Amino acid sequence: MISTARDLGDVQLEAVIDLDAIAENCRAVAEYAGDARVMAVVKADGYGHGAAAVVPTMLANGVDRLGVTTIGEALELRRSGVTAPILAWMLGVDADYGAAIRADVAVGVSSPRHLAAVVAAAREAGRTATVTPKIDTGLNRNGISATEWPDTLRALAAAEAEGAIHVDGLFAHFAHADEPNHPVIDAQAEALSAAIADARRAGLRPEINHHANSAATLTRPDLRFDMVRPGIALYGHTPVPGIAGDELRPAMTLRAKVLIVKDVAAGAGVSYGHTWHAPRDTRVAVIPAGYADGVPRALSNRFEVAIGGRRFPNIGRVCMDQFVVDLGPDGGGVREGDEAVLFGDASVGAPTAQDWARTLDTIDYEIITGVRGRAVRRYRGGA
Ligand SMILES: *Cc1c(COP(=O)(O)O)cnc(C)c1O
Repeated sequence: MISTARDLGDVQLEAVIDLDAIAENCRAVAEYAGDARVMAVVKADGYGHGAAAVVPTMLANGVDRLGVTTIGEALELRRSGVTAPILAWMLGVDADYGAAIRADVAVGVSSPRHLAAVVAAAREAGRTATVTPKIDTGLNRNGISATEWPDTLRALAAAEAEGAIHVDGLFAHFAHADEPNHPVIDAQAEALSAAIADARRAGLRPEINHHANSAATLTRPDLRFDMVRPGIALYGHTPVPGIAGDELRPAMTLRAKVLIVKDVAAGAGVSYGHTWHAPRDTRVAVIPAGYADGVPRALSNRFEVAIGGRRFPNIGRVCMDQFVVDLGPDGGGVREGDEAVLFGDASVGAPTAQDWARTLDTIDYEIITGVRGRAVRRYRGGA
């Protein structure tokens, strides 16, 4: 997987992470959040940015808490020295709840069976587990279903009375947050409010309740509850382009060194299957990044790189380890060893992960979390 080594002499492909951009984005999102706290979602290794490496910057710039999916991810953050509250929420009935409790990691629960496992682990550890029940307010994915809510609530109240758990808040996740006026959003928010009221009537004191991901944080200040729970926005990508968050700065730049520059004669085919033929004598550059590194093969002949501030189109198929770009008959001034930017910050003229996502009919989340293989992460900026 991605290494953070700086001193590999032969690094040809880098994911450069700009910690100053992360800092700015966190402060911007904290502004959107107003009085609500901010839980930074750093699942999937910080959306491919390296969770342990970006978290200190986040915590220094308006982020209070961290959210991950698995207990393993949370423990890795604890091992890296993070003491801030962490919530892990995608857990099976056989998850290692004891490890979470010992490491002071809050756990999401999605059914009475999951809660029973947490309670058993807390009794065994002789400690109080922090529990954030996940309410299924309409996404119909993870979360406590409406039919199981009454039983779960009774069990939550009993477990809290016994001292096995403390419920710090309730949370839920939106299905249509990137469509700011969708009626399902309001229905979901009302369902969470109703669950909070139920919990209070049952004697619980859920104080930090949360529903809003990035899109809701950016577009629906009325749905902040006590905390917002953004991910993608902190890394500089808006899930609602043209509506909000366009000022955020993508923190990741994927760049590669030009491996070789060479001539291709008019009529010659390039790369596997010769899906592109040179319309004239031209020069091409070989870029050492392929689908094994997170450059989707489906992008073949459909994207551009920036070299020296100019754009050059990919020609021919993206291979496992490399792809080719057309420099034009004059070679565009490109030399071997030059830096080719695959995607990065549009404000400095780079193609973007959003460009790739649009071309591929997906979302930039999939592009930035897909960087892998020989890409080496490098960090710049930060205190
Ligand atoms: C991934 C995730 C988030 C963050 O979503 P973004 O769209 O990246 O802001 C928030 N909450 C839950 C439950 C998630 O799974």
